[in-house]
Amino acid sequence: MSNFQTDSQNDLSASENTTRNTLDPSDWQSLREQGHRMLDDIIDHMSALHDKPVWQPIPQVKRDLFTEPLPHGPSSLASAHQRFMEDVLPYSVGNASPGFMGWVQGGGSPVGMLAEMLASGLNANLGGRDQMPLEVERQILHWMRELFHFPESASGLFVTGASMANMISVLVARNRILGQSVRRQGLADSPKKLVAYTSAGAHGCIMQAIDLCGMGTDYLRVIELDDQYQMNLVQLKQTIDNDRAQGLTPFFIAGSAGTVDVGAIDDLDAIADIAAAENLWFHIDGAFGAMAMLSKKIAPRLKGIERADSIAFDFHKWLQVPYDAGFIIVRDGSLHHDTFASPATYLRRETRGLAGGSPWPCDFGPDLSRGFRALKTWFTIKVYGADKLGSIIDKTCDLAQYLKTKIEAQSELEMMAPVALNVVCFRYLGKNNITADQLNETNADIVADLHESGLVAPSATSINGQIAIRAAMVNHRIEQRNVDILVEQVLRLGRLKLKD
Ligand SMILES: *Cc1c(COP(=O)(O)O)cnc(C)c1O
Repeated sequence: MSNFQTDSQNDLSASENTTRNTLDPSDWQSLREQGHRMLDDIIDHMSALHDKPVWQPIPQVKRDLFTEPLPHGPSSLASAHQRFMEDVLPYSVGNASPGFMGWVQGGGSPVGMLAEMLASGLNANLGGRDQMPLEVERQILHWMRELFHFPESASGLFVTGASMANMISVLVARNRILGQSVRRQGLADSPKKLVAYTSAGAHGCIMQAIDLCGMGTDYLRVIELDDQYQMNLVQLKQTIDNDRAQGLTPFFIAGSAGTVDVGAIDDLDAIADIAAAENLWFHIDGAFGAMAMLSKKIAPRLKGIERADSIAFDFHKWLQVPYDAGFIIVRDGSLHHDTFASPATYLRRETRGLAGGSPWPCDFGPDLSRGFRALKTWFTIKVYGADKLGSIIDKTCDLAQYLKTKIEAQSELEMMAPVALNVVCFRYLGKNNITADQLNETNADIVADLHESGLVAPSATSINGQIAIRAAMVNHRIEQRNVDILVEQVLRLGRLKLKD
């Protein structure tokens, strides 16, 4: 009897229930068959992404399907899968689609998807203990040390994403400047008032990290950008001097390797010089940009990254690993360890047996239970190879240049920021003079209309107070024809709206 075919076949007999109460099926063969159907369906979906809308509005009746009360009885696996296929899959955000250029999101890959299935089947908990999955995570750390030219003593940890990775860096930097006693005494007892620095181009999660770490966002100095959208280093220097003159303690500076708005790379080498001279922790938010170390063309522009004290980045963006897979690498591994390690008795370490293999990942961050994010990352790097992944990064940057050329050839369109990497900010300008408000409204409308068309999905951002259409080329599936569609549709919608 199958536990998985239809709702009516789900009742286990009373005797079976008493002898064998488990979540495993009584009939593995029908599970296998249903599993193969599920695998086929998701591979069919992936292979046909080109023909599907990037996004479509969710009908209210579909939303309402997910407000049912807690189901006390079972359903068949087949019927739950059918619900997924009909009610969930068609209404996702579409970041796997070739028309998706919104925000900075990776497209995932078939290899990563299959690896995630294996990881889930193994159900490894990577908080610690002596197990091979941790060697896979350490292999990734090993590769990242090599990529960023970090020493053997550098530590690293998988986390949800760059937001969490950036926060961890703030905590390690705090311990460096205040010493281990801050873990017991907190910030309030310290005579030092800490100040951090970043640029106006930094991601919002830097400010959030300063907030969450209890330092107060009033103590994050947001340094202005220069005309290349890089941190203004003259202002940085002056601000540090002013803060010192007021008796404050500068401790942390976050540079950006690929800003979220326009893809600018700070002058990392120059920031490293300032950090060294001023005894500041030099952190880099390289959420997507750090992976450009895999591109022979772009890597030289990241010069200085090898001097960072810590780098936060994501495998789920430019490296196309399925969500989520963020990472933090810290040059001083023992300081990183001492920031988080705790002596809980139930986490006692041994020299042999399962409780061996110390230090454990839970000694390097706030998570105890952790999934096997390393496996999908390992499969991605192993199967495609670093060079191929680097070529995808180059391809997306080439597409950004292609889009820029097309925009510059159209008098009705205007570039809004330089194209440093893979992000293009532009707007529809029209043929006649209209007010700034009208322009903002028109461009915001164009973006929303594009989303609803399902053809292509850029996002909107604001650059110096002006709304820009922002196309971030991250997804490996974007092709020139998707860029052509973007330009055609922006022109069509803009002309329609302004009656040009
Ligand atoms: C995406 C991004 C982040 C946040 O990363 P998550 O993985 O979403 O937490 C931080 N900084 C930059 C520059 C980003 O692009």
